[in-house]
Amino acid sequence: MRTIKVAIPVHVNGLFDYLPGADIPSIGSRVLVPFGRRKLVGLVVDNDSQSNLQSAKLKEIIDCMDISPILSEKDIDCLMWASSYYHEPIGVVATTFMPSLLRQADSKGKLDRSYYGLNKDAICKGLSKKQQELYEVFDQHKKGISYWDILSLGFRDKTVSALVAAKIIIPISSIACCDLSSKIIPSKVDLNVEQKVAVENILESDGYSTFLLEGITGSGKTQVYLEAIATTIAAGGQALVLLPEIGLTPQTLRRFQNKFDLKIAVLHSRLTEIERLSAWVQAYTGEARLVIGTRSAVFTPMPNLKMIVVDEEHDLSFKQQSGFRYSARDIAVVRAKMLDIKVVLGSATPALESYNNVALGRYKCLKLKNRAGGANLPDISLIDMRGKKLKYGLSEKLIKAIDRHIKDECQVLLFLNRRGFSPVLFCHNCGWSSECGRCDSNYTYYKDKNIISCHRCGSQRRAPSQCGKCNSDTLIDVGVGTEKLESGLRELFPEVQITRVDRDVISANNPLEVVLEDAYEGKSQILVGTQMLAKGHHLPKLTLVAVIDADGALYSSDFRATEKLMQTVVQVSGRSGREDIKGEVMIQTHLPDNRFLQCALHEGYSKYVALALAERAQASLPPYASLALLNAEALDSRMPVDFLAQVRERSSEYISPGITVLGPMAAVLPKKSGKYRANLLLHGISRMALHQFLRQLLSEIESMKYSSKIRWNLDVDPQEMQ
Ligand code: ADP
Ligand code: ZN
Ligand code: ZN
Repeated sequence: MRTIKVAIPVHVNGLFDYLPGADIPSIGSRVLVPFGRRKLVGLVVDNDSQSNLQSAKLKEIIDCMDISPILSEKDIDCLMWASSYYHEPIGVVATTFMPSLLRQADSKGKLDRSYYGLNKDAICKGLSKKQQELYEVFDQHKKGISYWDILSLGFRDKTVSALVAAKIIIPISSIACCDLSSKIIPSKVDLNVEQKVAVENILESDGYSTFLLEGITGSGKTQVYLEAIATTIAAGGQALVLLPEIGLTPQTLRRFQNKFDLKIAVLHSRLTEIERLSAWVQAYTGEARLVIGTRSAVFTPMPNLKMIVVDEEHDLSFKQQSGFRYSARDIAVVRAKMLDIKVVLGSATPALESYNNVALGRYKCLKLKNRAGGANLPDISLIDMRGKKLKYGLSEKLIKAIDRHIKDECQVLLFLNRRGFSPVLFCHNCGWSSECGRCDSNYTYYKDKNIISCHRCGSQRRAPSQCGKCNSDTLIDVGVGTEKLESGLRELFPEVQITRVDRDVISANNPLEVVLEDAYEGKSQILVGTQMLAKGHHLPKLTLVAVIDADGALYSSDFRATEKLMQTVVQVSGRSGREDIKGEVMIQTHLPDNRFLQCALHEGYSKYVALALAERAQASLPPYASLALLNAEALDSRMPVDFLAQVRERSSEYISPGITVLGPMAAVLPKKSGKYRANLLLHGISRMALHQFLRQLLSEIESMKYSSKIRWNLDVDPQEMQ
């Protein structure tokens, strides 16, 4: 009996068998199937297999939803790989390959909608206001518009249908193909020798290759991507560019838009569902030659995909930290391998994993060692804060330096990765502090809004005016956040315009670009901000960058903390002195002798990498070992630990040499949103052996009896100990 294997978006492992209905659906197309009492949209993974179940038990597919497949067989290989590597149900992984509008039961035929163009002989009389508006849009787009673009402009299906019925617009096959090379704008700058070598290497390679483009900040990596992509597109291919966060890198996006006068599909988290589908369709039909997106764009189906670029490949935002916990960078590499195409990973501060892959011969390293515009790298110095008096977290030495740079009419950037006024409100009388009862963490104090807010669960309340324990009114704000730093700077430099950038300031209505306007123009001279400011902003007059507090990372229990600190220091330093003036970088610390800081000071990131890799090898940590984190949580404080202890005990029956199970231990955040949390850390010297073990572990958990009140998840290659 011919059966169809379907991936269905439910949290159950494996594929589901169905009998074909009237038609045999093609592999990679969507089908509507009965599932329990529901009707769900599934994806066909195999259309000619045998089932172990009796055919009487199998149900029939209700409907085939696509005429042609939406995923190629290669995409399906990638899907299967991701499901097996991250141990995530295949149906859940499949949902990341398509926008949510395509997962709705009534979305049949949505992908077959065509282009419409204006009918020259149309008679336009008695149009409604909306219909008239749509007519005008068509009047401006003589070549035609796709159905989804019309909808993403805010028109409804019924308006489109009305114009079609009145024969004012008519379906056209597709937009006429234009000469692509005329749409690629030549660059104003000539590539330097290093850049040329990089572009040539990338273009010369045939078939699959991963390149690590290691180039210091400002060395012209983006220029290399642009040129390599230009050649790829001119030859008829499509390219996919992944950026950490598009809202934070509007300048990078604009450079792509300026270079390619072509349809570019931009995919990020702030799109409406219609906009997302519209962009996805452009990529899927091949109309968009270039797709630029954040993490989840790595799954976009593209028929002529020939090159993938992952910019800032070390960036944490490429790892999804909830649900299906994949790494977009790693998937990009796997996808490139399956499609037999090239992938370029670029960074000034590559991840230690990527260096190791170069050492193992898996990636080819291309280096840009000089700044492109000829600017020099800044001088770095440490400020020893031990025993020093601080004003709003600033040492005397730093205040003087700020003053000097401002008097020279330059700009200063102060980097502090802590939002709010202060991280805690504290009773001077009895030692009480304002803690979030649901999360085991302190409330952050916001003086401006007079509230306290928990950064873990988002809960907020009015700031107390009295101690919660002894009722005295001796509450003091301890520690410095960006809000306090900003208000302190206003006191110290009352004449100077100051801009603060953090997640409390930036929103969809108040995007980064608007907030930074005065800074781009040089009017605002002091910038205070978090990680958000570390990304690729180009501020011509910026000459001093200061890291206000480097110590947190040096004391952290997370083995990746120093790597992240170093990356941040290098990235923020890269903001300094980008044009003709030499920049300066100052790092405040209580640990001036720390060997990593010394290394940043004298020898740079690559020396740090050598040191850190040696340490990781010694301690058998990634990239020299593989990790997975099994996290459990429940309202009851004992349950997660008991559950994990049981999992661990059972695992002793099938554990193999080279695998170590650590825990159960309390999570880094032992309580979050009212739930208690614990971890098992699973460590394998060999990745293969660890994955073999994980498969057994998960099937064991499936067969175990445990309370439905426990929630658990598995994080493969965790980037942050949660
Ligand atoms: P990165 O991506 O490595 O940070 P960019 O590509 O943004 O570097 O380049 C930094 C600056 O140098 C940009 O203003 C860019 O326009 C300029 N630039 C890049 N390549 C060249 C070149 N070959 N000659 C002159 N200027 C260049
Ligand atoms: Zn008190
Ligand atoms: Zn909380």
